[in-house]
Amino acid sequence: MSDMQIRLAELSGRADVAAAVDYLHREDESTLATQIALSEIPAPPFQEARRAERLAELLDTTCAGRVERDATGNVIGRRSGVVDAPPMVVAAHLDTVFPGDVDVRVTRDGPVLRGPGISDDARGLAALVALSRALDAGDVRTRSPLLFVGTVGEEGPGDLRGVKQLFAENGHARAAGAFVSLDGAGLERIVAEGLGSRRYRITLDGPGGHSWVDFGTPNPAHALVALGSRLSGLPLGTEPKTTLTIARVGGGKSINAIPQSAWMEIDLRGAKAAALASLVREVERAVGVERERQPDLNIRMEMIGDRPGGATDPDCDLVRAAVAATLKVAKEPRMALSSTDANIPMTLGIPAITIGCGGEAGKAHTTDEWYRNTDGPAGIERALYTLLLTVGLEDA
Ligand SMILES: [Zn+2]
Repeated sequence: MSDMQIRLAELSGRADVAAAVDYLHREDESTLATQIALSEIPAPPFQEARRAERLAELLDTTCAGRVERDATGNVIGRRSGVVDAPPMVVAAHLDTVFPGDVDVRVTRDGPVLRGPGISDDARGLAALVALSRALDAGDVRTRSPLLFVGTVGEEGPGDLRGVKQLFAENGHARAAGAFVSLDGAGLERIVAEGLGSRRYRITLDGPGGHSWVDFGTPNPAHALVALGSRLSGLPLGTEPKTTLTIARVGGGKSINAIPQSAWMEIDLRGAKAAALASLVREVERAVGVERERQPDLNIRMEMIGDRPGGATDPDCDLVRAAVAATLKVAKEPRMALSSTDANIPMTLGIPAITIGCGGEAGKAHTTDEWYRNTDGPAGIERALYTLLLTVGLEDA
């Protein structure tokens, strides 16, 4: 047994903690009801306000009077600790990938819930509410304060803007001691490495003209194809892995014209920050070559997304706490690499992980998304142990 497992055995034997755990299991149905209710409030990128409002109301019953909204729309509920130490942040994201016209109603078939966003991240939000209530139910008094946060902008177009604000110079979590993101389902994965990504839009502009009369005028679409071919041929890493995806292309207005403009959007990812940075330089070099080849075209490369990567020391207390908590609910921990809200605190050296909240799920980011409540409460119990081991209790 590790020292963390020994501490957890002591901690879980306490009456207050046992009462909190009991609450999670007893109130499983009401947690599912919260999950459904939040999932049914549309939360497209940049339109999280209604869902945020509801989450603030739910947290208000446990963090009475201490729920705030920050400049980007994050919801922040503060639960005091016994000492005025750096707070621990427990977060779940408010936004979904779905546009406003997607039907987000949830259907239920026993333990299976179906609906866009039902797991990612309505499960995390429901777990957040359940955790805050369970702590109150057990009258659990943590040493450090806790911040329960619903973040905006976790998904692609949001570019982590919520968590970036949270950890900005003037952000509510700037002085945090640890960060846990509750994201989706699952009982085993511990994301302690943050996958970095950069997204660019490359635009090529020229004079354009008639496809017969003006033939010979520099053609942005031809240059785009040549550049695309060069980019897709760039050598990529396997260890650490890097990827380059030309994700969207467009341009031209008519079949009988040399276009005035053509563009592409590319997504670059890297398991290590240095590997991603060197891939970015390769892309810049390829764009430079195309500029030299086509001096009469205006070629611009603009960054449209930046998710810096990072990593949390696997030997730090937070990761060891999550490992002990996973073993406690009889599962085998699996370390993982992903791009989540935890990326940002990782880059600041704040211990940060992302974990699931029990149950199983599939078809995330599609309208066929589903969640099955297998070991649902145990997943939230795992999160509870992780945070209690990290912040400590009043007299332990
Ligand atoms: Zn998510």
